[in-house]
Amino acid sequence: MKMQSTQLENSLLNSLSKKESSFTLGHSSNPSPIVVPGQTIGMLGGGQLGRMMILEGRRLGYRFVVLDPASDSPAGQVADEQIVGAYDSPMAIEQLMEKSDLVVYEFENIDPDTVRMIESIKPLPQGSDLLCWTGHRGQERKVLQDAQIPIASYQVVTSKAKLVEAIEQIKLPCVLKVLTGGYDGKGQWVISTLDDPFPPAEIIEKGILVEKFVPYVKEISVIVARGISGEMEVYPPVMNIHRNQILHMTISPAPIKEGIRERAEQIAYRLANQLQFVGVLAIEMFVLADGTILVNELSPSPHNSGHITMDTTNPCQFEQFMRAVTGLPLRKSVRKNTGIMVNLLGEHQEAFFEQFAKLPSCAKVHLYGKSVARVGRKMGHINFVGDSLSDLLELINEMSIWEPLSGQEWEAFVAIANIK
Ligand code: AMP
Repeated sequence: MKMQSTQLENSLLNSLSKKESSFTLGHSSNPSPIVVPGQTIGMLGGGQLGRMMILEGRRLGYRFVVLDPASDSPAGQVADEQIVGAYDSPMAIEQLMEKSDLVVYEFENIDPDTVRMIESIKPLPQGSDLLCWTGHRGQERKVLQDAQIPIASYQVVTSKAKLVEAIEQIKLPCVLKVLTGGYDGKGQWVISTLDDPFPPAEIIEKGILVEKFVPYVKEISVIVARGISGEMEVYPPVMNIHRNQILHMTISPAPIKEGIRERAEQIAYRLANQLQFVGVLAIEMFVLADGTILVNELSPSPHNSGHITMDTTNPCQFEQFMRAVTGLPLRKSVRKNTGIMVNLLGEHQEAFFEQFAKLPSCAKVHLYGKSVARVGRKMGHINFVGDSLSDLLELINEMSIWEPLSGQEWEAFVAIANIK
């Protein structure tokens, strides 16, 4: 859905008054909000991330207008207004800008050209830089490499012959990934021998990332917020368990040694400092048995693994995001308790509703207002909070909403650290 940016830009620049573009994003050490409570924030995208951003932003007194192609979107339901329209519709974008004092995007698959064009007219503190490369695995690896962030060895190839050459250099096992568009594990091939099925030629020709398979023992992620003035707040690492390549569970704090926690947070600070972004960035990392950390992926917005902060940490990632983009000072994040987030997917919905009334008070339910449940579709999440992670895990394991943890998943949970 790539938009014809020049055409759109011209039509919009002509139709909007010049005085609206006279804003500056100051990088002063004493930030003042660029929008104040009562003013309106326009949002590109109406998904669950947007919904949770708005719920926090409303507490701070902001108004919201959402642009999404689907009516009754999760974010639209809690906004003051929703414009139903495509992200590349000049009319819809013009409407969004006319109604907004500041614009944000809530998800990462938005076209950077659209963002760049809006940013030339309205304050859009997140900017378009991060979006230009976080949506492209090859470019993302290059940025990480240039920033001297530890990553698995990789190459980008566009032919079968070069692919085989790259595998010989990197050495099996390898993971092949499409450069754009693949998410939640789609568009990936694990190659253990040269006889394993390769992606079709037409996919290879578009560009494939060949990456060393990482024998990780844990997947962790770190959320970092960065404000307009450059101030930063890092949330302690959480551990993630995926099922069918979709995030199943996040454990907070991550059961890792203190030294690994420190290094993971340092990586996050270093990256945030070098990237100079505004908003919230999630950094997914692999932890190896010897304690080595390799960064796997970045996400330029609040992240599913950060949803646990809604009930364990003050402020949560969504409030911190709203503070960052509006120019309010960030708050030091303070952890209130331990917690485990479990995603509610379409296939869990029926069992969940059977249990809903019986859930204990430590289960904080967050539903996204989606009316159609499909397998793999994120319908909501539950944050289980308390003092003991193992008690919470036992409680979750006894519920008949999800499959209990496998032996391997338990191992990731108990390995390395002493669990309280
Ligand atoms: P991604 O789409 O890159 O986040 O990958 C989805 C999932 O595939 C990750 O959460 C890992 O479980 C797995 N994965 C991705 N890259 C690698 C790798 N280089 N080695 C081992 N597992 C990987």
